[in-house]
Amino acid sequence: MDTEIVRGDITQQNVDAIVNAANSSLLGGGGVDGAIHRRGGPRILEECRRIRAASGPLPTGQAVSTTAGDLPARWVIHTVGPVHSATEDRTHLLTSCYVESLRLADELGARTVAFPAISAGAYGWPLDDAARVAVAAVRDAAPSSVTTCRFVLFDEAAYAAFDRVL
Ligand code: ADP
Repeated sequence: MDTEIVRGDITQQNVDAIVNAANSSLLGGGGVDGAIHRRGGPRILEECRRIRAASGPLPTGQAVSTTAGDLPARWVIHTVGPVHSATEDRTHLLTSCYVESLRLADELGARTVAFPAISAGAYGWPLDDAARVAVAAVRDAAPSSVTTCRFVLFDEAAYAAFDRVL
């Protein structure tokens, strides 16, 4: 699997699947989540509501998929990153977001997948560590139909952090 980084907006990526840094409610939020629902239109939220009604809140570190609505991608994979904690090591949960998202992408038959810097926004994860965990998780992931993993970093600081790790 090739790993690449670009600076940009994940909603505009021409890939099979984009990953959403969602929250457990699956009912939308700020940051990447807000942008995806805003630009992707109401069908994404409709599917999220159905999943939520059938299965309840999505646990941290897990992933589900929906249509990508009006976005160029075919699917949105919603995963819930851990809130950063100064007292508890939650790295395994952040790793799980990447692993489970890639596993789901493989099930869907996606070949190209774009990730944001999960947990590095509202959830407070220090950028350098978020980048280290993300890159390690993707490097160690099992072989799958995914040929390209693209990290899409919204600002210069996030791009620089991923660039240092890669
Ligand atoms: P979390 O709650 O998991 O921390 P956020 O959405 O708050 O998720 O932030 C995760 C990262 O995504 C942050 O680095 C933020 O700057 C970035 N981000 C925000 N909007 C976009 C976007 N449209 N495309 C890509 N990355 C984005």
